[in-house]
Amino acid sequence: MDCVFCRIVAGEIPSDILYQDDEIVAFRDINPQAPVHVLVIPTEHIASLSDVTGEQSGLLGRMAAVANRLAKSEGIAEKGYRIAVNCGDQGGQLVPHLHIHLLGGRQLSGRLG
Ligand code: AMP
Ligand code: ZN
Repeated sequence: MDCVFCRIVAGEIPSDILYQDDEIVAFRDINPQAPVHVLVIPTEHIASLSDVTGEQSGLLGRMAAVANRLAKSEGIAEKGYRIAVNCGDQGGQLVPHLHIHLLGGRQLSGRLG
């Protein structure tokens, strides 16, 4: 298993985990781009957003709900935040395990990309 996020789920690589259940794990990004930068991932290895099937679409909603709850607990919900999913090479995806970025705590650029 050489997927870095699967290894985080398995506890083989240390990470700052903020939330964990059977289906979803959230942890702080190792190279934060904002004062709050959290990654929300499925415990199951799904390579990218484009691999999410219709039957798995509920998972995305639950991941977004975890991100929203963490935005509240991290104190950025009121001022605003961004969730982003990079998909594939030109989408800027570096780690091939589906993840939602939760970013906030500063004024984010209005530009995407
Ligand atoms: P992406 O470019 O959307 O694939 O984002 C991958 C993110 O994973 C980057 O923001 C990295 O900083 C982050 N990352 C990579 N390895 C780790 C790790 N071991 N622990 C926490 N975050 C990581
Ligand atoms: Zn994985």
